[in-house]
Order: sequence, then structure tokens, then C-alpha cells
Amino acid sequence: MEKVLIIDDSRLQAEFLKSIIQDDYDISICNTAEDGFSTAVSGDFSLILLDVVLPGMDGFTLLKDLQENAATRYTPVILITSLEGVHNEQKGLIMGAVDYITKPFNATVVRARVNTHVKLHRYRIQFEKQALVDELTGVANRRSYRQNSVEKWREALRLHIPFSVCMMDVDKFKVYNDTFGHPAGDRVLASVAKAVASCVHRSTDFFARYGGEEFALILLGDEGQKAFEFVRSVRQAVEDLHLPHDPSVSEWVTVSIGGATMRPEKEDSYDECLKRADAMLYEAKRSGRNRVMWSAENGEEWKEK
Ligand code: GH3
Ligand code: MG
Ligand code: MG
Repeated sequence: MEKVLIIDDSRLQAEFLKSIIQDDYDISICNTAEDGFSTAVSGDFSLILLDVVLPGMDGFTLLKDLQENAATRYTPVILITSLEGVHNEQKGLIMGAVDYITKPFNATVVRARVNTHVKLHRYRIQFEKQALVDELTGVANRRSYRQNSVEKWREALRLHIPFSVCMMDVDKFKVYNDTFGHPAGDRVLASVAKAVASCVHRSTDFFARYGGEEFALILLGDEGQKAFEFVRSVRQAVEDLHLPHDPSVSEWVTVSIGGATMRPEKEDSYDECLKRADAMLYEAKRSGRNRVMWSAENGEEWKEK
């Protein structure tokens, strides 16, 4: 059940409002703006019903604070105003409240407005999720990769920490499709993505489908040696899926991986790092596939085998 937060200093009003919508939503009530703010930020609500006239911090200040907080920035807020408070409605709507309801409450109107905004919020969440997730594999898509790669590079630059990117490409995948068919190929891509994703646990790491049978993995904070070792274990995890390949190619489906670690300085660029990783992938393919090759921060190049 979706969650709705009511912030109103009048317990009676809040309880009445709750009684109107409680069959359809999981309701929380706060009686002050301060309490409302902390509850909203920690709560993942689909909608907030906010009384503009509150003791202490008023509803407008709270509305502004909610909009400035990353956790509540997109949570829709409906203002609760009294009939004589038209100017409050205007001010609130200009500030970004999605709607208003007036006291005394009309149950049908309240229900309809609440339902509409919860539904719109749900669509928004769905849409945003779809826009950033690859449909076939369920991992981050190219669009998400574009945003994250730049952000992570900047973070590494700011924090003076090592940054690694690797490109991963399924070996002889065209043969796989030719032998087993595209639908089977699609299932392989989903399995490979799942295996890699389950190796990547840190919130600072990022894994995406780059396109076709290629994936990108970004690691923050590890020295090249550690990143190289970790990525070798990722490559092994894919091999260990034991997905049969066409026997003329290899026993199992495998991936080749090219990676690069840099300690970003102002004059460096992400593209340069990616270029090094691409060159390593090319080498990994050329020297026999199913292996990791790495360009380290000290200029050394490491081969898995
Ligand atoms: P290499 O080891 O050199 O990477 O050989 P390869 O055959 O994997 O490389 P190539 O680039 O020649 O072929 C990539 C193949 O990946 C061709 C394409 O049909 C297949 N592919 C790309 N995207 C998808 C997809 O979404 N589903 C399926 N089933 N196949 C895909
Ligand atoms: Mg390829
Ligand atoms: Mg390939």
C-alpha cells in the first residue's frame, strides 16, 4: 500500500482527513512541521498533505525544505488551506505544491485529488526507472552509464582517489547467436549481466550495459592492482556460469575485459581513461579472449594470462 503523510497541528482535522483515505493508503500523521520533515525524509511517501498554518515552522518553510532535500524533492505536496486563505493557495502553488484542498473537507474531492497525485507520482517513478534501466538485462542502461561515468570521474577527481573503468565484451557472441538463435543469445546476456551485478556490492561501484554484448564497470577507490584482481574474479564468475557455447569456439560462454586505472588530475579526462580500457579490451581479444588486461595508474600493463 502506498504511504501518505498528513502534517496538521489539529489532531482532529488530521484524523478526519485520515478517515477519508485510510482504506486506500498507509497513513502517518505528524502535528508539527519539524516532526513532519524528519518523517518525510526517512519515509518514502507517495504524497504529503500539508497544513500551511502550523505553529513554529510554517507550512511554506517546510515545503521549501522538502523541495531542497534529495529524499523528498519529488514527493508531491498537497496543501491544506481554509476557505478564506486564497492567498495561501496562490503562494503554495507558485512554490511548487501540486494542488490544494480546502477545509472543511469534502470527502469525494479529497479522495479524487489524493488518488490523482499518487497515481501521477507512481507513473513518474516508473518512467524514471524505465529511462535508466536496460530492459533485457535489468541493469543500468547506456543513458544511466553516461550520467554515472561523469559523476564518478568528478568524484574521484575531487577526493583524489583512484578511478577504474572496464569494458567487458562477450566472446564470439555472433557465433553464439548463429548457432543457438537470438532469443537464446538474449538469455545469455541477461545471465551474464546478473552474474556480474551480483559480484558488484559497493554503492560507489557502477555496472551498466553499454550496448549490444558490451558492458561497462566503474570502480572507485581501489588501487589498480586491487581493481585488476577483483575484475578477474568477475570474469571467472561469468565463466563459472557454465553456459555452453558453440563447441567450435569454447566450452562455455566467456567475456574479455579491458580495464584502466587512473588517479584523475585536472588535466586528465574520462575519455582518455576509457580509451585505455578499450585498448586493453582489444589486446585481451587479440591475445586469446576470456581474460582481463589492465592499464595501471603507473603506466604498467598487466595480463591475466
Ligand atoms: P568478439 O569475441 O570479437 O567480441 O566476437 P563477437 O562475435 O562477440 O563480436 P561481434 O562484434 O562480431 O558480434 C557481436 C554480436 O553480438 C553480434 C550481435 O548480433 C550480437 N548482439 C548484440 N546485441 C545483442 C542482443 O541484444 N541480443 C543478442 N541475442 N545478440 C546481440
Ligand atoms: Mg562487441
Ligand atoms: Mg563480442
